Amino acid sequence: MIIRKLFTFEGAHIVRNCSSRRCRENLHGHSYTVEVFLSSDRLDNGCMVLDFGLLGEVRELIDSFDHACTLWQGEDPEIQEWIRRCNCRVVEMPVSPTSEGFALLFFFLIDRLLSHTIYTNGEGKVTLSSVRVHETATGYAEAFREDLKWVHFTANEVRFSEGIREEWKNNKWWEKLIEIS
Ligand SMILES: [Zn+2]
Repeated sequence: MIIRKLFTFEGAHIVRNCSSRRCRENLHGHSYTVEVFLSSDRLDNGCMVLDFGLLGEVRELIDSFDHACTLWQGEDPEIQEWIRRCNCRVVEMPVSPTSEGFALLFFFLIDRLLSHTIYTNGEGKVTLSSVRVHETATGYAEAFREDLKWVHFTANEVRFSEGIREEWKNNKWWEKLIEIS
């Protein structure tokens, strides 16, 4: 059985090296939709794969990208400096902020968060099946476990600006990710 939880965020990016000039040469924004698919080998005491209420850390992770400018670490240093100077919410990413890049990044981070979550209500082996990221209403990218072979970064390489971090309710989830990366 698979369950799915949907998250949203509004974000800005530039996608360098892509075919479309509109995307590669303009800072622009999208209303992102992130679908997280989970499965398990049994249901918990409440007859659920996983109570969505236990996804608070996933919610905080994705919310960290809301009204933020995502900045690929391969971006021109002058542009990087300008973006940091003009925005208090900036996420530096080790992958290009395409839907594919986001799906891969979110799969990697959410999988780690879930694998270090302690369940106490009879949950089974809760597994992240996939993460689907929609940048527009007409297309999406979906990352699966087998795609982790394309991950050549660590959680340490994702950097949230002070303006984002100061809105975190706590940073235990992030410290956990950094420790295990
Ligand atoms: Zn775009």
